Amino acid sequence: MSNSIITKLKSLVGDVHVIDNPAEMSNFLKGNGKPLAVVFPGNTAEVSGIMKFANEVDLKVSVAGALVDTEALDGGIALVMSRMNKVLEIDHENLVVVVEPGLLHKDLMAKVSEAGLNFPPEPYDVNTGSIGGCFAIGDSDSKSYQYGPTRTYLLGFEMVLPTGEILNIGNKCIKNVSGYDFIHFAVGSKGVFGIFTKLLVKLLPPAAAKKAVVANFESIHQAAGTFATFLKRNIHPTRLNLLSAPIAKEISDSQGHLALVDLEGFVESSKNMANEIAAVFTLAGGTNVKIIDDAQEYENLWKGWLALRAKLNNSEVLDFSVGPMKMPQALKSLEGVIGDLGSFSGILVEGLVGGVRLVLPNLTERDLEVLATKVNNVAMSFGGGVNGLLGHQLRCQSANDSDMWEETTGLLAEIRRQFDPKGVLNPGVKL
Ligand SMILES: Cc1cc2nc3c(=O)[nH]c(=O)nc-3n(C[C@H](O)[C@H](O)[C@H](O)COP(=O)(O)OP(=O)(O)OC[C@H]3O[C@@H](n4cnc5c(N)ncnc54)[C@H](O)[C@@H]3O)c2cc1C
Repeated sequence: MSNSIITKLKSLVGDVHVIDNPAEMSNFLKGNGKPLAVVFPGNTAEVSGIMKFANEVDLKVSVAGALVDTEALDGGIALVMSRMNKVLEIDHENLVVVVEPGLLHKDLMAKVSEAGLNFPPEPYDVNTGSIGGCFAIGDSDSKSYQYGPTRTYLLGFEMVLPTGEILNIGNKCIKNVSGYDFIHFAVGSKGVFGIFTKLLVKLLPPAAAKKAVVANFESIHQAAGTFATFLKRNIHPTRLNLLSAPIAKEISDSQGHLALVDLEGFVESSKNMANEIAAVFTLAGGTNVKIIDDAQEYENLWKGWLALRAKLNNSEVLDFSVGPMKMPQALKSLEGVIGDLGSFSGILVEGLVGGVRLVLPNLTERDLEVLATKVNNVAMSFGGGVNGLLGHQLRCQSANDSDMWEETTGLLAEIRRQFDPKGVLNPGVKL
C-alpha cells in the first residue's frame, strides 16, 4: 500500500518533489510521528489533487511552511509549502500584495520594503515563519494596537479544502464583506479548514519617521506605571514593551528591567512624543533614558527584541492579557499571588495590547495547572484572562460551568467535521 501511495504522489507532483528517505525527511519534520513521505506541491492543482487522493484512501495530511508537526501523522504525509513561495503581484494602486503561502515573512518584508510599502504584523519567528503559517495562526503582536491584528491584513484567499475542492474568496477592496465575514473564518484555524494556496494581503505606506525610547527601571511596577501614564496623557506609541532584568540583559548592556518604546509616525509628532516619553521615564525614576534616532541603532534594538521573543516562544511560557490601563494594578496583584515578579526567570510585557508572557521554570503538569488557574483568576479580576482556549477552559472551570467548555469544543469539532468529513487534514491540531 505504501508503495502505491508514493507512486501516486510522485505522479501528482513529480518524482523529485516526494521524499521517502527517513534521514532526508527528518529535515522537514518535528515531533515523533512517522509519516510515509514529505511532499512539496508546486501549485494549487497539485495541492487539490493530493487532498482528493487523501480522501479516497483515508490518508492523513499535515501541512506547514517548512517544518511539519508529525503528531498523529503515522502512516500519513507531510506537505511542505516551500515551493509555493512567489510574490505574484504588488499592486501599488490598491496597496495589495498577492502571494503564495510558502513565501517567508522575511522575504515578503524585503519585497514590500523594496516597493516602498509596509506590512506591519510580526510573527513570533520573523526569520522562519511563512505567510501561510502567519495567517493560519493569525495572532496579535505588540504593534497590533496601532496597526490592527494580523487578520485585518487578509483581504481574500484561495484555499484547497480538506476534500480537495478549491475555494476563492475576497478581493482587493477593503470594503468587501457584507453579511457574515466568511473571509476571516480561516484565520487562526491552524490549517484545519483548508490549505491556503494564495493570499491577498493588505499593505500600508511606510512610516515617515521611526524612533525609539529606552530606559532602565529598578522595579517592574515603576516601569509599568509609566505605561498607564502615557495612555492617560493620550500618548499612543507603536510599541510599549518591557523586559524583566534576567532577559533584558540578552539584548542590552544596561542593568535592570528594560522599557522599550517604538514610535512609527510623522517626523514632528514622533519627535514630540519621544521627548514626552523620555520626560515621563525620567520623572518615574528611569535611568539610562535614551531617545534613539539613528536608523541602524533603531533596527538593532527591535531585531534584538524580535529574536528574544522568538527564543522565548520555544520555552515553557504562560500568556495572559488585561486592558492596557490595568496593567500596573494587575502586575501588583499577580505578585501578591505568585511572588516577586523580579525574581521570575523572565517577563515580557507588550503594554499596548495588554499582553504579558511569563517564562516559567521547570514545573510539573500539576504545578503548571495550579499556576495557570491563579494567573487566570488575577487576570479575570481585571477583565482579562489567560490567552486562547486554555483561558476559556479556565474561565469555564472558575465559573463551575463544564457544559460551556464542552459546548465550545463540541461546536468547534462540528464545524471542523463539516469542512473535513473524513478527518484527514492536520490530525495533530487541536482547536
Ligand atoms: C502578529 C503575530 C503574532 C504571533 N504571536 C504568536 C504567539 O504569541 N505565539 C505563537 O506560538 N505563535 C505566534 N505567532 C505565530 C507564529 O509566529 C507562527 O508560527 C508563524 O507565523 C508561522 O510560520 P510557520 O510557517 O513557521 O508556521 P507553521 O509552523 O508552518 O504552521 C503554523 C500553523 O499553520 C498551519 N499552516 C502553515 N501553512 C499553512 C497553509 N499554507 N495553509 C493552511 N495552514 C497552514 C500549520 O498547519 C500549523 O498549524 C504569531 C504570528 C503573528 C502573525
